[in-house]
Amino acid sequence: MTHDVVIVGGGIAGLTIAWELARAGRDVVLVEASEDAGGMLRRGTAAGVEVDLGAESFATRTTGVADLVADARLAVQLVEPAPSGAHVAFRRRSGRVDRAPLPRRALVGMPADPTAADVVRIIGRAGARRAAQERHLPLPSGPEPTLAELATSRLGARVTARLVEPLCRSVYSQSADSVRLSSVHPVLWEKTQVLGSLTAAVDALAPAVRTGSAVRGVEGGLWRLAAELEAAALRAGAVIRTGAPARTVTATTVELDGETLAARAVVIATGPTAAARLLQVEAASAPPVGLVVVEVVADGFDSFPVGSGVIAAPDVDSAAKALTHVDAKWEWAAAALPAGTHLVRLSARDGRHHELMDAAGAAAAIRTLTGVRLAPTDVRRVVPVAWPDAVATPGARATVTDAAATRGIRLAGAVAAGTGLASVIPHARALACDLASPPIPSEGARHVR
Ligand SMILES: Cc1cc2nc3c(=O)[nH]c(=O)nc-3n(C[C@H](O)[C@H](O)[C@H](O)COP(=O)(O)OP(=O)(O)OC[C@H]3O[C@@H](n4cnc5c(N)ncnc54)[C@H](O)[C@@H]3O)c2cc1C
Repeated sequence: MTHDVVIVGGGIAGLTIAWELARAGRDVVLVEASEDAGGMLRRGTAAGVEVDLGAESFATRTTGVADLVADARLAVQLVEPAPSGAHVAFRRRSGRVDRAPLPRRALVGMPADPTAADVVRIIGRAGARRAAQERHLPLPSGPEPTLAELATSRLGARVTARLVEPLCRSVYSQSADSVRLSSVHPVLWEKTQVLGSLTAAVDALAPAVRTGSAVRGVEGGLWRLAAELEAAALRAGAVIRTGAPARTVTATTVELDGETLAARAVVIATGPTAAARLLQVEAASAPPVGLVVVEVVADGFDSFPVGSGVIAAPDVDSAAKALTHVDAKWEWAAAALPAGTHLVRLSARDGRHHELMDAAGAAAAIRTLTGVRLAPTDVRRVVPVAWPDAVATPGARATVTDAAATRGIRLAGAVAAGTGLASVIPHARALACDLASPPIPSEGARHVR
């Protein structure tokens, strides 16, 4: 039997394509290696509350998630995070670790106005004067530098160290040394070329809201989005097979253990390393993304000392590079937790995940990032999670994209679209439309985008 489409990978990308194709009447089979679909949208439990162990919010720079929820009539409630915003922790010249709210108007850590009070609070007056010169510097020609080189040459080392690098590491799980602005924020890069200045481009594009609040979530956890989408795909007639790892693929076949599925089209919607393996090409993998969800009982957290969370500059010695105070960020979490109990997510620095896995290590990282005095006994539980295939190195992305294109295999998910639901979902829907012939009729909400 030849199916219309076989999809390998049941993360949000694969599920989106399965739902789109099934509702268009196509014969679609999705195979997922693990026992549950959802990929990096995964449910866990801490302090008796269901929480996200992977992605926990989505950027509102596209309407991709909201459109999907509306079009698929998913039974999820989209919610705003608390307006308090996030902080950055950095080391002052005195050696003391300080914390300050992230600038209200900035993109990828680059401020729209370097002399704004909330920017000066972080980079100091000298740093602000240096960064303010950016508008008068000519844009160099030649190949695009790395994001770190770009930010340092135009805005100064302080902006890179205290804003761009921590933002880049926490949002994209990569150092600003290893990415280019055109890949992490193509719109900002294009605007910079047009206006001839980074700060002018940020000024034109940055929303008038605090960094960290241009996101939304799902009441009860983002994992519900994948769970509801899976149910919608099944209702529409998609076949979803979990515990079914694909071993190799061609343009028309997917090899499972002891079985071959035939299809008119094959989509790979796995992480980058799994995609490289399926395509039998060599691609450099990035280190795993490690985090822990920590249950804390401490008065110091009742006042939400760092708003919704804090990201750490590289010179802050901590095994965690970022912290999310879950119940400060999401009202639904605060309402579900017993009084005095808090949930904290710690994202590990590369190679330091193990240091966060016990109460003493988690407490030390929380103390450093928040300034709250916390004893190991205040940490009641630590839930560790590792995501081995979450980040695509630029090299892996190029290798996998080329190999898939050469062989006539379609590629979806973060490896093709870039990290994050705001990119992955619209890309997956466009791919599904392309695969469905005659085209899937669009619905009103999708024209709004
Ligand atoms: C800790 C963390 C926090 C994040 N936070 C956010 C956030 O707040 N906001 C945001 O927008 N994004 C966030 N992201 C990124 C976001 O989760 C991803 O960009 C998105 O979920 C990628 O979806 P995907 O479908 O491409 O891949 P995945 O979710 O990785 O799904 C791929 C699926 O393929 C399966 N698979 C792999 N190999 C095979 C095989 N051989 N055969 C069959 N199946 C296979 C895997 O088991 C997996 O289920 C976060 C990611 C992590 C790890």
